[in-house]
This record gives sequence, structure tokens and C-alpha cells, in this order.
Amino acid sequence: MLRQVFGFDGFRPGQEEVISAVLAGEDVLAVMPTGSGKSLCYQLPTLVRSGLTVVVSPLIALMRDQVGQLRALGVEAASLNSANDIHENARVCQALRERRLRLLYAAPERLVRQETIGLLRQAGAALLAIDEAHCVSQWGHDFRPEYLALGGVRSALGGLQTLALTATADAPTRGDITLKLFQAAPRTFVRSFDRPNLRLAMQPKANSRRQVEDFVAIHRGLSGIVYCASRKRTKTLAALLRGAGHRALSYHAGMEQAARSQSQDIFLQEDGVVIAATVAFGMGIDKPDVRFVCHADLPQSIEAYYQEIGRAGRDGLPADTLTLYGLDDMRLRRSQIEESDAPEERKRIERSRFSALVALCEAPRCRRQTLLGYFGEMAAQCGTCDLCEGGAETFDGTIEAQKAMSAVLRTGERFGTEHLVRLLTGADDEALRRWGHDALPTFGVGGDRGADDWRSIFRQLYAAGLISLEIIDHGRWRVTDAGRRVLRGEEQIHLRKDTLRPRAKRRGRSPAAAAAGLPGPSDGVLLTALKALRLELARAQGQPAFVVFGDRTLLEMANLKPTTSAQLREVYGVGQAKLDRYGEAFLDVVRRHLAAG
Ligand code: ADP
Ligand code: ZN
Repeated sequence: MLRQVFGFDGFRPGQEEVISAVLAGEDVLAVMPTGSGKSLCYQLPTLVRSGLTVVVSPLIALMRDQVGQLRALGVEAASLNSANDIHENARVCQALRERRLRLLYAAPERLVRQETIGLLRQAGAALLAIDEAHCVSQWGHDFRPEYLALGGVRSALGGLQTLALTATADAPTRGDITLKLFQAAPRTFVRSFDRPNLRLAMQPKANSRRQVEDFVAIHRGLSGIVYCASRKRTKTLAALLRGAGHRALSYHAGMEQAARSQSQDIFLQEDGVVIAATVAFGMGIDKPDVRFVCHADLPQSIEAYYQEIGRAGRDGLPADTLTLYGLDDMRLRRSQIEESDAPEERKRIERSRFSALVALCEAPRCRRQTLLGYFGEMAAQCGTCDLCEGGAETFDGTIEAQKAMSAVLRTGERFGTEHLVRLLTGADDEALRRWGHDALPTFGVGGDRGADDWRSIFRQLYAAGLISLEIIDHGRWRVTDAGRRVLRGEEQIHLRKDTLRPRAKRRGRSPAAAAAGLPGPSDGVLLTALKALRLELARAQGQPAFVVFGDRTLLEMANLKPTTSAQLREVYGVGQAKLDRYGEAFLDVVRRHLAAG
């Protein structure tokens, strides 16, 4: 079925376990990173078994794309939502009553209606698939109250088998999902969060426009997203990139609805468009061939960062990311947290999330290790991040580390960064006097450095695992076993100088560009022709290009140059329905290319 309908050779990691559990009739919670192929986990079982699968999804745009893709594969799918006209919805209801549909996509607020529930009973619903299941949790940043009613929908349908899917990993969210969507704990699978095809890099802002421009330049002709902190910046950067000869558009929530969907559609449907956008862009964009993501400004949190860069390379091919961060970004974020009127509990969580993000920016070692460590995973050095590639300048910071950690220990491991920084720099401070800390031997031993340096040192010690943070009161540092070894002089620690050395520009094509087969000397001509045909077919159907075929499929075609449908059948992403529909047209292009020599 995988080969026949989807045209895939094998499962992606994690899919097979989840699919087996679903086929065995179990309730399942699957936590899998973006791009790991969650949709297949309910689509394939639906086709293998009989009955209807109801897919709950929060976003209409996303439903539309998925339905389009399924229909292109020859699968009876439809969506029921407020964007359809009455006739369309009536047709869908009719198809449901006649049990003709295999997958129905619906927004949660639609599902909870009594008439929908009745309809689903009639339609023989066999599986409830809840996408973006973390939306049920108040802890997350995507909380949607409508999701809370889904547990009730499940019961109303007689405890229908349920598969909840999400890319948000942390334990509190997982607990919340189980509590609110299931009666008993479901079978839970948590896939590694690693996305080895994403190259990770971060740089302090020096001249950020220039940095963005250089980064986009090495990916000329590829699709990419440049995330900006403000609406104004989306416009400035889009204009800058247009000036440099890129096809660049801007996107933010303040734009007219029509202009917004236009930008989004162009980005989805055409090749090689760069979109400068606020984070309003991307929820529900599952374009598989985004080749790069650049954060022109510091993202909100590690979760947000990972979700945003995760929009690149969903097809599994190499994709490139770059995040720029500046002191101003950090100050702004810190003051937003402090000045908000959120309850103290919430602020504390926000503060520690923010420190973790800063620690990632300033990580002294492999970024992927630091990142996955944040999600509770151990990982080897990746070799494909800027730090593994040798981008950071470090110095022997053992003495600094010892000073900072003895400040932590001498104050009883009860204080946070700000108090300790004042202690180390020997500040004239009331709190220090009150605690008698101005009499400690550590008082003022760090006077040779400024407060910002010391803050950075604390973050780096945290990133290196020498100190750990307890999030009570204002956050208190503790020295870990690894930290004690450094304190006793048994081990050394290298710290980063606060700014990276301006690195030599990467020359030539980026790995992402190479993977996408861009102006490659040999097969470039054929690839361009194949893409032109794809665009023509997609336009004719008013669908995004990737609904016809993904980049990876065209790349393989350009390399394998199939001339018969049997050969074409072997290409990634070519299933029976697409072969019937598009096979001849693409084969024609290949044959003509070969004939032209
Ligand atoms: P997620 O929802 O986990 O972010 P999707 O379900 O949107 O991921 O899948 C991402 C991409 O991976 C899609 O283009 C999909 O067609 C592709 N994909 C899914 N499963 C496989 C597989 N087994 N082999 C190859 N490609 C796959
Ligand atoms: Zn690395």
C-alpha cells in the first residue's frame, strides 16, 4: 500500500511502530517531530482497513492541502469546514451518509455539534486522528479551547479508537493530552527530535541585513522563509532581497486578508520564492521543499525556534538554517517578560525558557547536542552545525568557571544570576550587604570583567552542564558533578568569546542548494523542464506545485531519466494514481530531453 498508493519505498523512522499499533486497534499518542511523516500514520491504516477516519485539524489551510494531496493520490477525502460553501458541505454530508469517504478532515468546533456526531455514526467512523494534539494543553503556546471538547466527541462515538499526534515533546504537555483526550493512558511513542538534515547555525548580529542577504544569496533560486520580529522588518527585508534579484514577498498578520493569502499561495505554488514573514506565517504550511529558514531576529523560545526551522526540509533533503541574535533582542524579550502582567508562576517559566534559548545561542559545543539536550535527548556531536564546523572562537575559561561556581557554592546554591553577578563584580549593593556576601572571599574576584560577560559565562556553564538551574524563586544555580570536577581543576572548560569571529563566507553552492539540484551542470536543463511542467499542471488545477510531485521526485527523475512507465514507477513519490495521471506528460519531457541530446 505504501508503494502502491504513496509511491514510497519504506517507512520513515517511527512510522511503522505507530501504524502497527493503530492497526492492532490501540489508542495511541505519537510524539514525532515536524516532517517525520505523521499524516501517514493515520492515512495508511485507513486505506488498509475499512471505515472512515475523522481527522481533526486546527487549520483550514492545512486541511485543504492534505485533502488536495490525498485526492491526487486517488483517495476519497474531503473536509467539512466553514470555508466551504453550503453546497460543498452538503455534498460532503451526502458522501458521508453513503459511506463513500475514507478520510474526513474537520475543525474541532464543527465536530462537537450534535448533528455532526450523528452523521459520523452513520458514516461508520472507525478512527479519530487528532492532529496538533498539544492544542488541548493549557501549558503550550497553541492552546485552543475547542480541543477540550474532543474527549467528549470520542465518548459520544462510543470510545472511538483515537490516535493523537503532536510535535511538542515535553512531559507536562504529554500528560495533559492523555488526561484530556483519553480515558486510559494510550500507547505512547516518542520519536527522536533530531532532524539530521537541518544544518544549524546561529550568529550574533553584526550587520543583520547584510547577514540575511548573504545567507539568502547562497540559496538563490530556492524556497525559503526569513522570520522577522516586526511587520516593518518583513517589508524592509523583502525589499532588500528583491533589490538583490530574488523573488521575495512579505507576510504579516496586519496585511489585508487578500494580500496575505496571495503571498502564501505564491510561496506554496511557485518555486524559489523567499518570504519575509512574522511568525504568523507557517502554522499549517506543509510545503515539503522549503530549503532554508533564516531568523533575522531572535525567536521566542527554543520550542518556537525548532518549530520554525522545522518548516525547512520536510522532504528529508538537506536544508539550511541561520538564526541571528542581538543584545537588543535579548533585552527586549527580558523586559517583555518582566513587564507583562502574567502571574509570577508563568513569568518564572518564561524566564527559564528564555535562559535556555540564550544558552543555545551561546552554546560552546555542538548546537544539536544542546538543542536535543533541552528536549531530554542525548546525542553525539553532529558534525553539521556551525560549532561542529569550527565556527566559534573559544578560550580556556577554567578560571572564570571556577570563580562563578565558587560564588554559587559559597552562597549556599540559593541565588540566581543577577545576585551572583553583583557578587562577582563587587557591586555596591544592599542585598549583598544584607546577606553578608560583601564579606565573602569571592566578593569582587570577577571585577576584571563586566556584568554582561558574567551573565554570558553563567549561560555557557549552564549550556555545558556544569551548573543546573532550579526554577524556584528567581531561579537558583546548583553546581553539578561535572562542575565540581572543573572546580577541583580535574577538567578544563573552554568558553566562547562572546562574539563569533566573522567567518569566511561559505563559498559555492550550499549543501541545500546542491541537494535541490540547483543550477547543477549536468541535469539542470532537464530538471528545469520538469519543474516547468509541474508548475503548468499545478496551475491548471489551482494546487500547490508539490501536490503534483515533490522536489525529491523531480530530482530523481532528472537523475534516473526514466523513459518507460515501469521505470517511472520506481521513482520516489510516484504511486499508481499519479503515474496514471501525470506519467505520460513527464515521460515525454524526459524523452524529448534525451532526443535533444
Ligand atoms: P509531519 O506532519 O510529521 O510534519 P507530514 O505528514 O506532513 O509530516 O510528512 C512530511 C513529508 O514527508 C510529506 O511530504 C510526506 O509525503 C513525506 N513522507 C511521509 N512518509 C514518508 C515515507 N515513508 N517515505 C517518504 N516520504 C514520506
Ligand atoms: Zn554539531
